Amino acid sequence: MSCLFCKIIEGKIPSTAVFQDELGYAFADLHPQAPVHVLIVPRKHIASLDEAGKEQSGLLGHLLWAAAEIARKKNLTNGYRIVVNTGQEGGQTVDHLHLHLLGGRAMTWPPG
Ligand code: 5GP
Ligand code: ZN
Repeated sequence: MSCLFCKIIEGKIPSTAVFQDELGYAFADLHPQAPVHVLIVPRKHIASLDEAGKEQSGLLGHLLWAAAEIARKKNLTNGYRIVVNTGQEGGQTVDHLHLHLLGGRAMTWPPG
């Protein structure tokens, strides 16, 4: 498997772990776009949100919960943003489903 995030999950590429359990792994983004920028990924390889089936809806919910839990642990009491870039026009560059947790600064809307 040549997937970058699978290698990170397996520990073959180093990362700064933020949270982990049996379903997911979260680590600091290499190029942070905010004071807090964490990536939350399923341990199972799913290429994108578009590839996630109904049988994975529980897993998707768990990852969203994990993102909120990390935000609480990082004291993002003023708010934060969760982003799931999907596909080419969605700006996805790594083909392993991931949630971005961004916080620690005011976000703008609409995104670019
Ligand atoms: P995407 O553009 O697919 O939504 O997000 C991919 C994210 O992965 C980017 O924010 C990028 O900075 C991050 N990233 C790419 N390569 C690495 C890496 O080797 N380690 C870590 N920690 N993050 C990475
Ligand atoms: Zn993968």
